[in-house]
Amino acid sequence: MANFVAIQENIFCEPCKDCGARPVIEQIKGNFMVRCPNSSSHYQTKPGLVDINDWNLKNKIHTSLGAKDTKPSKEAS
Ligand SMILES: [Zn+2]
Repeated sequence: MANFVAIQENIFCEPCKDCGARPVIEQIKGNFMVRCPNSSSHYQTKPGLVDINDWNLKNKIHTSLGAKDTKPSKEAS
């Protein structure tokens, strides 16, 4: 059985878009992935830092196309 870590209850996570499960964190050799506890074929983030934002974006049922967060550049005067 894989070694999953529960995500704290007070952290907002979208449910898995495929099965509705709350995601978990899997640790593999010092890298972390946010993934569905039920299936590795459901969405999982790239190994690295815990990226719940990425999970949330990919598991939103309504994907907002082209909704980029344009932050004002510091170079603008
Ligand atoms: Zn799932």
